[in-house]
Amino acid sequence: MKSRLKDFFEVLGPSYRIIGPKIENGVVILAEIKYGDIPAGYRDSQKPGRYRLSPEKDSQVFSFSSGPDSFKRFLNPPLAELFHFHRFETGLGITSPPFSEKGGISETGLPICFMGIRACDLWALKLYDRIFPGGRVRDRTYESLRRNSLIIAFNCLYPSGNCFCLSTGTGPEVKDTFDVAVTELKDSFLLEEGSARGKEILGLLPLGHAGERQSLEKRERIETCKALFRKSIAADELPEIIFRNLDHPHWEDIARRDLECGNCTQVCPTCFCNTSYDFVYPGGISGEDKCNLELSGRRLRKWDSCFSRDFAQVHGGNFRLSRKARYRHWMAHKLAYMQDQFGLPGCVGCGRCITWCPAGIDITRELEALRPHS
Ligand code: SF4
Ligand code: SF4
Repeated sequence: MKSRLKDFFEVLGPSYRIIGPKIENGVVILAEIKYGDIPAGYRDSQKPGRYRLSPEKDSQVFSFSSGPDSFKRFLNPPLAELFHFHRFETGLGITSPPFSEKGGISETGLPICFMGIRACDLWALKLYDRIFPGGRVRDRTYESLRRNSLIIAFNCLYPSGNCFCLSTGTGPEVKDTFDVAVTELKDSFLLEEGSARGKEILGLLPLGHAGERQSLEKRERIETCKALFRKSIAADELPEIIFRNLDHPHWEDIARRDLECGNCTQVCPTCFCNTSYDFVYPGGISGEDKCNLELSGRRLRKWDSCFSRDFAQVHGGNFRLSRKARYRHWMAHKLAYMQDQFGLPGCVGCGRCITWCPAGIDITRELEALRPHS
């Protein structure tokens, strides 16, 4: 019985802030949801530079694929305070932003439960786990939020027209990095535990026993899904296609179409580049000799994009002046350098950059144009 999905919300609701899919402005976004918010029965149609959502007769509860949002907005917010500083007469005080050791976020104090996360995004999450807590500077807020977040992953059964995770080996089936994995079957949901916490949660739900029939149906559904993919990339030939073609004339062709809006980097679940700046509030002059300038302020971190002209501005100049160089860098980072940097693919084949590019630039087609054909 599919309405039993509600049990999840009843069991998890008091202890977690459930972040899952809901419709806003005609798009499936991720937000804090209740059971009734899930866009059951909706299907999306995605093409380069195009997204449409509509109710569809006979469709399933989870017939829609990923919208522009991912876990990224919640674990690595677009704008975050790094620290607060205050200069006073005898020195400088620095305080960290408030965060809860339990992984809560300030307003609710509850840890996050990601409901409905797909295989491609789980690979992106694995990559984030190497970047944010694993880098030279540990991000304590990410670490805390992530350590306590609960992952209810869903096997993807309806890829969008722009998905290509099958060819990057990052989907459509979830394999690890989840607490509970869910597969939507014809008349029910199949739930599988992926961690001790997942097992504990399943123990709280009134579940029937799944047998061979349900496992077989799951396999059939995933195989049917694989046959629906329309896009792919030659992942086996990477990174050579990129490195051997850094001077290919096709980069100029892309640069003529590229608007440098940065949409692709904002929606990409693996893009993590950011910039930081200080907001300073002068507070007046104090002290007997009137020499102390009182200052306080905040250092903020904001998502940035390698498509911004200033992104490569350093002392003495800019090392990526042309639009061609900026696009080439983005694509090369996704498809070549990230694997070397972090040991994981930099592109998880979610197709978001294709859907949300206003110029319809398609990473799969651009790579194909660079690839030598015999
Ligand atoms: S590069 Fe595009 S397809 Fe690849 S992970 Fe980023 S948004 Fe998804
Ligand atoms: S590739 Fe598309 S989405 Fe990305 S910056 Fe260029 S125009 Fe914008």
